[in-house]
Amino acid sequence: MRVVIIGAGVAGLTLASNLRKNDDEMEIIVFTKGEDIAYSPCAIPLVLGGCIGSFDDIVMHDAGYYLEKNIQIHLSTTVTGVDSDNKKITFEKDSRIESLDYDKLVIATGSELVRPDFDIDDMDNVFYLSNIEDGRIIQESIKNKKNIAFISNFSIGIESAYELAKKGYNVTFLEQSFGILPLFLDQDMAGKLVELNEGVTFETNANITGITSDESGKEIHFNDKSITADVVILSSSKVPSTRLAKEAGCEIGDFAVKINEHLETSVEDIYAIGDCVEVTSHFTGTATLSPAGTTAVRQAMVLAENLTGNRMTFDPVVNTVVSQVGDYYYACSGITESFADMIGMPVVSEYIETCQKARYYPVNNRLAIKLICKCDGTIVGCQMLSRGDLSSRIDVLSFVLTGNMKCEELIQKEFSYTPSLAMVVNPIVQAALKLRKKLDG
Ligand SMILES: Cc1cc2nc3c(=O)[nH]c(=O)nc-3n(C[C@H](O)[C@H](O)[C@H](O)COP(=O)(O)OP(=O)(O)OC[C@H]3O[C@@H](n4cnc5c(N)ncnc54)[C@H](O)[C@@H]3O)c2cc1C
Repeated sequence: MRVVIIGAGVAGLTLASNLRKNDDEMEIIVFTKGEDIAYSPCAIPLVLGGCIGSFDDIVMHDAGYYLEKNIQIHLSTTVTGVDSDNKKITFEKDSRIESLDYDKLVIATGSELVRPDFDIDDMDNVFYLSNIEDGRIIQESIKNKKNIAFISNFSIGIESAYELAKKGYNVTFLEQSFGILPLFLDQDMAGKLVELNEGVTFETNANITGITSDESGKEIHFNDKSITADVVILSSSKVPSTRLAKEAGCEIGDFAVKINEHLETSVEDIYAIGDCVEVTSHFTGTATLSPAGTTAVRQAMVLAENLTGNRMTFDPVVNTVVSQVGDYYYACSGITESFADMIGMPVVSEYIETCQKARYYPVNNRLAIKLICKCDGTIVGCQMLSRGDLSSRIDVLSFVLTGNMKCEELIQKEFSYTPSLAMVVNPIVQAALKLRKKLDG
């Protein structure tokens, strides 16, 4: 059987590797229009900030590694069309158009940056930040510069802005929506994150009308005013790449390529995974996006099983995220209070500030938690801020949400404890206790 995968990002390559683990014989052919493969996009801000030495350090494998596993990768090759009736793709490499038959086709084309309304073509010192190549260009271009402006409404922008501020740059962040990280945090929590960190000046609700150049640098015009910077970095939101899927006749939903729980599109023998698909929200049962490496990997693992004789499902998502912003981490799972308001779901929330470890333990970090539940006590969202590790805490919440657990049930769960690592009453339980009290009136 020949499986053709369009896309060599996290989704496409995880699928290819897992298919090979399950099946020695299968012919696996991957196409990517880019040259860089098998790198971690999530680490780009950390390289820009200097915490990771170089962009080469975040590249895990090259095409030769995959070839040894008998996985062919066509680099710098753009798939230009899909003929689903004849099960054939066409692709362009070195200005030549060729075609290839498939038995199973997987679309893993990721997402693409939304280009701004204003003109920036051929402008020097104005860059997009979306992938490793952009990162390399920016790293070179900001040497000997001082003032950097980010135009962004995307987490990569805010992560990178703080990393560059830590390096000593003067950074202004022009946020195009009403607040910081609105998809992840309610604005009370986002405000605290900004207060805790130093080094970045924010302009929210920035309606950018254009960028001009003069002898002092780039002038960014917004809301009837302007600021000047040496370098402008654009990292606005991304939209799922659905063109090929659409051309193949696959149904496109409200946001992206529609798939079922087996990751099948509406066209026989065509599957889709990663940032180009829409998924089902655990809370609303409706379509949503989950543009995360973790989702892409999980989908790839499920699809690898399904294409090698097993039958697994990809379940609705709660969208669990952890991210570093400056010296702090934020983590979230589930829905925000503002999203609940937007969809008309009545919710109650509580906020606590506590410690990561026993109060008296000398090396400690503060921890802020906002817990959100429905009026019957079912927990639907959680947001956390701390300088210390949040990933294991938010992962627990992810299971709480997936299991539709109520505050009452969470309070009775068993957690581990030792003073140098934990509190005797787990902070999540502390938040649930306070929330239950509020619910009880
Ligand atoms: C800077 C940054 C930080 C991030 N941080 C995190 C994080 O901390 N945690 C987390 O979970 N997620 C994070 N993400 C999100 C995560 O990286 C993405 O969700 C994930 O990479 C999506 O993988 P993908 O394979 O679907 O798409 P992509 O990685 O975008 O890959 C798409 C592939 O499709 C190829 N392609 C597209 N069209 C064609 C065509 N016509 N022909 C041939 N090839 C084509 C592209 O060349 C590429 O190889 C981050 C993303 C970025 C950019």
